[in-house]
Amino acid sequence: MPADPSATLLIDGVWEPGSATFEVADPATLRVLARVADAGPEEALAALDAADRAAGPWRRTPAEDRANALRAAAARIRDRAEPLAALMTSENGKPLGEARGEVLGSARMLEWAAEEARRANGRVTPGAAAGPGLVLRVPVGPALAITPWNFPASMLVRKVGLALAAGCPVIVKPAEQTPLIGTELVRIIAEAGGLPAGVLQSLTTSRPGDVAGTLLADPRLRKVSFTGSTAVGLSLLRSTGDHLRRTSLEMGGHSPAIVFDDADLPAAAAAVAAAKFANAGQSCIAVNRLFVQRSVHDEFVALLLEKVAALRLGHGSAEGTTVGPLIDFDGLDKVERHVTDAVKRGAAVAAGGRRWTPDDPALTGAFYEPTVLTGADDAMLISSEETFGPVLPVYAFDDDEEAVDRANATDYGLAAYVHGSALARVWRAVDRLGFGVVAVNEAFPVRPELPFGGMKNSGLEREGGSEGIDAYLETKSVAMRL
Ligand code: NAD
Repeated sequence: MPADPSATLLIDGVWEPGSATFEVADPATLRVLARVADAGPEEALAALDAADRAAGPWRRTPAEDRANALRAAAARIRDRAEPLAALMTSENGKPLGEARGEVLGSARMLEWAAEEARRANGRVTPGAAAGPGLVLRVPVGPALAITPWNFPASMLVRKVGLALAAGCPVIVKPAEQTPLIGTELVRIIAEAGGLPAGVLQSLTTSRPGDVAGTLLADPRLRKVSFTGSTAVGLSLLRSTGDHLRRTSLEMGGHSPAIVFDDADLPAAAAAVAAAKFANAGQSCIAVNRLFVQRSVHDEFVALLLEKVAALRLGHGSAEGTTVGPLIDFDGLDKVERHVTDAVKRGAAVAAGGRRWTPDDPALTGAFYEPTVLTGADDAMLISSEETFGPVLPVYAFDDDEEAVDRANATDYGLAAYVHGSALARVWRAVDRLGFGVVAVNEAFPVRPELPFGGMKNSGLEREGGSEGIDAYLETKSVAMRL
């Protein structure tokens, strides 16, 4: 730990305070937790200089050594899971149990990246008389990882793990709402050893556009991996200018869940409630539209309402809390806009539907009651815009084809959920759903061994699976005459 707690810039192996700072607050109480360094273009360029210097030696470091560094980092994250989870809850607001799960999932992701480091194999082609052809996979070079506040550990670790495994130096830029957990993870990974100066760097900033803009204008940056909103992701793509570079985008979603009449209804209700209300609905794969077959609609909604009634709002660190605050009041305004519009257009509020007023006066953050709206239709704002809050609209459908057509009627394509038991029926839906990730009778479809990412306006490239490391590798063909 550095003497100065605002020394949150890791540049060329040294923790620096920067020339300015910004505040980080607990979203449940609005209490200021810390001040962190506010990097600008100068620090960004210094980090890129160091990354550029580190790129050659790091790509020549044996893959086994890179893997060992990642495995050591994963072990330290496991050892410190409790304080890391508490830190995440304090600045993000999610319940402690969810934060703990995310920290442990982050360690698993680093372990997966370590395994993949040794499997970035090329191939030999025997076709030509002159000699063999080689297909090499080489690290793309210095990378920038821009991460969001809603999964501030797992999104960061996925990018860092895969970049380092592939042999790329990486500069991390955590979200301004959650720089503490991002910085702490970088510190742990760096202190685990095996990473020379400049290989892993971190820039906390309240001016993401200035920092990213400086780096993106420089052709030495060879890769950008972004997770966040579709609007910012598209702006990064547009700002490429004259320098093409590899770009991974993990952006917004508008996940449908389909419940067929042969589903295990109690299990499906539990899974849908978890997929909607985890992280107070602020998840890119949160269910944003729930399609229920009309013949089981009322029975299913009753089961769902039981699950919702059991949710407990509160500070994420308080015993028994299952739903924390929204990250800020802008998020709350959007939620209210969606609910007001849906009700105006004929939806009924079956649960929630308003801000939550806690007994504890210290909880001044943006809390909203877990909400279920029935009688939703496809024209409502909530049917096309990502809500990013604890509101679940329910739509009745009659036949399977109709459900899939309506589920697909979105510009997004990140995740979809199907609940049913007849395999052929489930398979027909899975086959036709236009989403990068499909969950079958499952609440949380994220596993290190599965590629994660979206179709359409939800993104480009994948993280995880054997595809994940590809995003940090270039393909080089060698034609040999021997
Ligand atoms: P956001 O786009 O506002 O911010 C994400 C990151 O981008 C932050 O680090 C932020 O500082 C940075 N940023 C903001 N403006 C920038 C700019 N002009 N140039 C460069 N960087 C900039 O998104 P958010 O509100 O933090 O996150 C919520 C969004 O992220 C939701 O839409 C959600 O669906 C999406 N998300 C997607 C995934 C996925 O894997 N597809 C995962 C988590 C979140």
